[in-house]
Amino acid sequence: MRFFKKTALAMFLRSYFKEPDPNKHLHLETPDLHKGYNVLESALERVQNRYGFKNPLIVIGPNVEKISYKRKKLGKSLVQILEDLNCESVEKVVYNETPLTIDGVMNFYKENIKEKDISFDMCFGVGGGRILDAAKIIAHPNHPIVTIPTTLSNDGFASPAVSVIQDNDKKSFFFRPPFAIIGEYSILENSPHIRTGYGDFVAKYTSSYDWMLAASYNPEEVGFSKLIYEALHSSAELLILSIEEMPKEKGKVIISPRYIDMLLTVGVISSAAVISAGSTIPASGSEHKISHVLDLEGIEGSHAEKCGVATIPIAYLQGQDWKSVKQSLERVGVPTSFKELGVSKTKMKEIIKKARRFRPERYCILHEFSDTKTIKAFEKTEVI
Ligand SMILES: [Zn+2]
Repeated sequence: MRFFKKTALAMFLRSYFKEPDPNKHLHLETPDLHKGYNVLESALERVQNRYGFKNPLIVIGPNVEKISYKRKKLGKSLVQILEDLNCESVEKVVYNETPLTIDGVMNFYKENIKEKDISFDMCFGVGGGRILDAAKIIAHPNHPIVTIPTTLSNDGFASPAVSVIQDNDKKSFFFRPPFAIIGEYSILENSPHIRTGYGDFVAKYTSSYDWMLAASYNPEEVGFSKLIYEALHSSAELLILSIEEMPKEKGKVIISPRYIDMLLTVGVISSAAVISAGSTIPASGSEHKISHVLDLEGIEGSHAEKCGVATIPIAYLQGQDWKSVKQSLERVGVPTSFKELGVSKTKMKEIIKKARRFRPERYCILHEFSDTKTIKAFEKTEVI
C-alpha cells in the first residue's frame, strides 16, 4: 500500500512538473494577461518593463489595421504607442495570406522581413486566430511573442499550437506560446465574432473530460495532470454557469466585460493545459474530431460554431450536463443544431461514423460507443 502511494505521488509530481521538451521551444510560464478598457498603452509599457524590448515588430491583418481605437486606426495607434515608449525602431507588416501554411508564412517572412533587413526583439501579433498563428511562426524560434487578439473566435491567442493546412489536412504544430496577452475590451466587445467564438471555449468542458478519460488508460502518454485537468474543467463549468447569470437583451446575453473575461480566462487555462500535456489533447477532444471531419467534408461555418454544437451530444455521451451546454449556446445566440449549419441528418450520420474513426490514436468518448449509440445521442440531444 505504501509503495502504491509513493508511486502514485511520484506519477502525479512527474505529470505536474513535466520536463519541457527542448525541441518544442516552450516558454513554460503561463502568459501575463493584461485586460480591460483602453489598456493598450499601459499594457505595452508593462510588457516593455518586463521584457525590455527596443525593436518591436507588429504583425497585423489588413482589416484589423483599420479597427478604431480611441478614434484612430489601430495599426497607426500601436506604432505611435510603441514609438512613445522610446523604441529604437518600430516595424509593422501586414499579413494577408489565406489559407495559413507554414511555407506561406516562411515566404512572407523572407520577402517582407528578412530581405528588408528588419530585425526585431519582440513580435506583436494583432488580429484573429490566423494572424496570431502567422505571428507565432514568424517569431519562432528566437523571439518572444505577445498577442493582441481583436476577436476571440478560438483559443489561439493563448495557445502554443498553430493550426495549418498541410497535405489537404488540418494539422497542429507547436511554437512559442505568447509571453503576454493584451485583451483590449473596447475592441473585443465590438468584434463580429465575439458570440460565435463561444463554441471553442465551451468545448473545453468535453475536451478536458476526454483528456481525463484517455489518461485513465495511459496517463503518461497524454501528459495528464489531475490539478490542471481540474482547473480546465472547472473553468469551462464556470463559463457555462456565468452565461446563465448574465443579463439578456432580446433573448441573448449582453456582451459584457465579464463575458470577455471568462473567454480570456478559459483560453489561458486551456493553453496552460496544452503546454503541460505537450500536445493539444486537453483542448481538443471528440467535439473537435466532429468539427475537423465537417471541415474535411467542406461544410461551411466557423470552427467554434461546429465545436459548440458538437459539445452538446458529446457531453451527453460523457454523462455530463449537456442541457446546460445547450442552454448556454442558446443564450449566447449561436447555433445549437447541425441543421442550422446547413448539414442534413443523413450527411451528419456519415460524419459521425467518420469522426469515430478519425485519429484513432487519440482516445476519446467516441471510442466507448457504437455508431448506432453515438447517432442516438445526437438524436436525443436534437442536434440532428
Ligand atoms: Zn478549437
